[in-house]
Amino acid sequence: MNYRHEFHAGNFADVFKHILLSRILLYLRAKPAAFRYIETHAGSGLYELASAGAGKTAEWSGGIGRLAPASPAPPLRELLGPYLEIEAPFLQKDPPHYAGSPLIAKALLRRQDKMLLCELHPRAFEKLKAVLGGEPGVKLFAMDGYMGLRAFVPPKERRGLVLIDPPFEDPGEFEAAADTLGKAWRKWPGGIYMIWHPVKDPAAAAAFGRNLAQRGIKRILRLEFQVSRPALQLPLARCGAFIVNPPYLLPSEAKRILPWLAACLGAGEPGFSINWLEGH
Ligand code: SAM
Repeated sequence: MNYRHEFHAGNFADVFKHILLSRILLYLRAKPAAFRYIETHAGSGLYELASAGAGKTAEWSGGIGRLAPASPAPPLRELLGPYLEIEAPFLQKDPPHYAGSPLIAKALLRRQDKMLLCELHPRAFEKLKAVLGGEPGVKLFAMDGYMGLRAFVPPKERRGLVLIDPPFEDPGEFEAAADTLGKAWRKWPGGIYMIWHPVKDPAAAAAFGRNLAQRGIKRILRLEFQVSRPALQLPLARCGAFIVNPPYLLPSEAKRILPWLAACLGAGEPGFSINWLEGH
C-alpha cells in the first residue's frame, strides 16, 4: 500500500471526479429527505499543494491550477460554481491546499445527512481524523473500504451516494471493485454508486464496464475524460467514472461540462465520452 494521493491531488482526474461528486450531491440535496454519503477510499481529506508530494509532481497545476483562474460563463458557472466555491478558501491559504472528496462532501451535506468514510493507510487516516474527526454526522473507519461497504449498505435513509475511489496500484483492483459493487448493489439496488478509474489501457477499462454489467447491475453511465492520448506509462492522461443510478440530469450536465473542461485542461489531445452501458 504505497499509494499517496498527495502526488496527484487537484490534478485533472481529481477535478473530473470532484465535479461529478458535487453534481450528484447537489441532486441529493434537492429533496428534504436525509441521505447518506459512503466513501470506501477516502484519502486524507486535505492536501498541501506546495508539499514535498504535490509540489514535486505539480500535477495540480494542470488541473485545479488551470480551472480555478478560468471563468466559465453561465450556465457552466452554475454547474461548476459549487465545486469551485468549496475549493476557493483552501486554494487561497498560504501555502495553497486542495480539498479532497471528504471535505467536498462535508460542505454539501446538510444537518440531516450523514457520512461514513473508510481509509486504510494509517498516516492518511490520522490526517483525515485531524481534518474531519468529531464533526457532526461524520464517522471515520480505519478499515478496508470494500469490507466497510458490504457492512454499511443499505443505509437506513435508503438514499445516498457511494464513492469507490481506489488507488488502482494492484492489478486485482478492477476485479475487487467490481465484486464489491456487485455485492453492495444486490443489497441496495437503489443507491447511487460512482467508481472512478484510470484509463491507461482502454481495453481494460472497457472490460471493467462489461464486468459490472455481467453482474446484473442496471443503469450504468460511463463517462471518460482525457487531457491527452492515454498511454500505458505515466503520467495518467485519461480517466473514467462508472455511475450506477445517476441523477437523471447528470448525462445532460456532463454533456455541457466535459467539452468545456477538455478545452480548459487539454494538453495535446483532449476528449471525453458519455454513454450508457447496454441493458440500462
Ligand atoms: N477519494 C479521495 C479523494 O478524492 O480525495 C482520494 C482517495 S485515493 C485515490 C485512494 C486512497 O485509498 C488512499 O488514501 C489509500 O491510502 C487508500 N486505500 C488503499 N487501499 C485501501 C483499502 N483497501 N481500503 C480503504 N482505503 C484504502
